Amino acid sequence: MCSRVCPALAIEVQASETEKEKERYPVKFEINMVRCIFCGFCEEVCPEEAIIMSKDFELVFNSQEEAIFGKDKLLVPRQKLESRLKYLKESR
Ligand code: SF4
Repeated sequence: MCSRVCPALAIEVQASETEKEKERYPVKFEINMVRCIFCGFCEEVCPEEAIIMSKDFELVFNSQEEAIFGKDKLLVPRQKLESRLKYLKESR
């Protein structure tokens, strides 16, 4: 869903099946931070709150490859985003 609403086409997702019927997971999930315009649409449409905007804004890259964030860079402990999650819960 998030990749479909992204106006900058910054999100690339490859889904795969799980053992459970109708359940899928992202084998590949990448956000190209050079393309991202920080509109927040992906956060807004995610029903699982899997995408949360952080306060990281000092993003500097030496190459195009460095700007592509995969799951290794995107997955952060839930505790780091508590204030944003609280805000989202109250505003929905
Ligand atoms: S915040 Fe970035 S990745 Fe998310 S929808 Fe907007 S442009 Fe796309």
